[in-house]
Amino acid sequence: MMQYLTSNVDDEPYDSLYFAYCQHISVFALIVITASCVFVVVFILVATFVVQRRVARKYAPKRKISTVNISVGESDQHKEVKDGETKPEEERMPQSELNVKPLSVNYHFTRQCNYNCGFCFHTAKTSFVLPLEQAKRGLELLKEKGMEKINFSGGEPFIVKRGDFVGELCRFCKIDLALPSVTIVSNGSLVTEKWFEKYGKYLDILAISCDSFNPDVNETIGRQQGNKNHLQSLRQVREWCYQYKIAFKINTVVNTYNQEEDMTEPIQELNPCRWKVFQCLLIGGENAGSEALRHAESFVVSDDDFKNFLIRHKSVSCLVPESNDFMRNSYLILDEYMRFLDCTKGNKDPSKSILDVGVDNALLFSGFDEKMFFKRGGKYVWSKADLRLEW
Ligand code: SF4
Repeated sequence: MMQYLTSNVDDEPYDSLYFAYCQHISVFALIVITASCVFVVVFILVATFVVQRRVARKYAPKRKISTVNISVGESDQHKEVKDGETKPEEERMPQSELNVKPLSVNYHFTRQCNYNCGFCFHTAKTSFVLPLEQAKRGLELLKEKGMEKINFSGGEPFIVKRGDFVGELCRFCKIDLALPSVTIVSNGSLVTEKWFEKYGKYLDILAISCDSFNPDVNETIGRQQGNKNHLQSLRQVREWCYQYKIAFKINTVVNTYNQEEDMTEPIQELNPCRWKVFQCLLIGGENAGSEALRHAESFVVSDDDFKNFLIRHKSVSCLVPESNDFMRNSYLILDEYMRFLDCTKGNKDPSKSILDVGVDNALLFSGFDEKMFFKRGGKYVWSKADLRLEW
């Protein structure tokens, strides 16, 4: 190097050497600068991605569930669902290419109830009820996608505006939407004859829940309010159904307190068009787990006990059994915000509201098993025009 700088004799070879040296330095510098730039850009991109993921995780809505028991089949009666977080909808994978029609929908528009059943699996976690016009808009959207049957449920449907809310929804669905089937599931205690006079013509089927014909058992279960006699309400509603030409149905949940009962005689006497017999089901966040309002573990019966109940009642021709496996994912359930509830993971994970994202998008997060719906006989003669009512 010193030679380059100090020599003034015969400079030419030194000049070319100096030139070549500079060229090498320049190329080397260029490579270093380019590599540094690439490194900085990659670093910034990776850092941005990592920060975004952390922020998204931090602010995504999360709920903790505790260990819950769910019945899962013949041999594995109580399966543990591991402790952990349920995924927010954004992180849940939608059911790919779900191409189902919401043929039959259960709209639980209120969670409020005047009863206190120990195994209730749709509990009063909120007091929210959609404004009537929004509820109608949602029902209209469902009709556009193929809904043929709507079932209004709760909580207790007759608790909102003394039955006028559900009455107006029935009128809207039967007259404005011309739905073939409009049904209600109720505990029967708040239904009045006035209601039948005003809205009875818009209703196809009224199902009343009854787990026992022994008043003490009903009291133990919590299926009553104060001194009101649940069985009196049941019989009264049955009479009004007869009078106002509405198909009458009974729903029963088999649990530890009624599993030994023989209900054959009173059921045959009441002569419902259908007697739906469910196996008590545990749902995390509803009737099982630390955040639940009910703790139904002590109400659960084994598959064998459930089968024995069915065998005891095999002479009742209108009996429709529904075990936990048949029940869990075979219903399209809308909650009070018109969100589908996905029960596939043992709790109720809500989709976004059909009012915000439309029916098709919400259906992707419904967890609905259409095959099971048909397998359990979900499609039946559900319009009173087609039912041969023996009255
Ligand atoms: S009547 Fe139905 S909604 Fe009311 S507490 Fe009992 S199970 Fe729950």
